[in-house]
Amino acid sequence: MINVNDLHKSFGDVEVLKGINIEVSSGEVVAIIGPSGSGKSTLLRCLNLLEIPTSGSIVFEGNELTAKGTNINQLRQKMGMVFQSFNLFPHKTVVENLMLAPLLLNKGNKAELKATALELLDKVGLKDRADHYPSQLSGGQKQRVAIARALAMNPDVMLFDEPTSALDPEVVGDVLQVMKKLALEGMTMVVVTHEMGFAREVADRVIFMDKGIVQEEGAPLEMFTNPKNERTKSFLSKVL
Ligand code: ADP
Ligand code: MG
Repeated sequence: MINVNDLHKSFGDVEVLKGINIEVSSGEVVAIIGPSGSGKSTLLRCLNLLEIPTSGSIVFEGNELTAKGTNINQLRQKMGMVFQSFNLFPHKTVVENLMLAPLLLNKGNKAELKATALELLDKVGLKDRADHYPSQLSGGQKQRVAIARALAMNPDVMLFDEPTSALDPEVVGDVLQVMKKLALEGMTMVVVTHEMGFAREVADRVIFMDKGIVQEEGAPLEMFTNPKNERTKSFLSKVL
């Protein structure tokens, strides 16, 4: 579904991604771990061209993202993105947050889109909050709304950038539970996370990034119990 080939990204003189090669298959859950500043967010943002790669290629469902003539908006609609900060529209209710993008893009009439939105809110356990405003929700609830909002576009892949890092510890589990459910339903997911328990339990594959390079990748159990790379060993010894 996603093919990243020799991806480089520099900000000014600083090269942040130094030749990344990654493949993500349909239905796969890939966890990206690594120290702060290693380029994880930059990589995720390149995947839907929130950042423009300096060189290299990203092929999504057979379409080269950076090629001339690629309809990037159309492809972006197939990629749901969930950030650390929820970025909900504060002046819209929860259900309106879910309906806004599909409405603007004529994905259906209001009644249909509302029905879908309520189904998705039910899925993340927040149907009873449909008419609340974001400010009336806890952080964990906001993040679950953000996930439902991304799902409202019916994406083929969900990209998560540290979705639980800004949350109080007691609500982290609720969000991870929703993500686990999505994974079990077969959603393709790329998840940057510090939640090693989640990576171990839910991911099919773990990618360890450091200094702008994929240092090691493999099955979670193998990586966590028998890391090969010295940097991976050192990182895991601090976080496990
Ligand atoms: P991570 O998500 O692994 O913590 P990031 O991808 O956020 O890492 O950042 C990697 C490096 O790129 C950091 O040194 C960061 O300061 C730098 N960086 C990220 N975004 C920008 C930007 N827009 N302009 C300049 N430098 C950036
Ligand atoms: Mg980051």
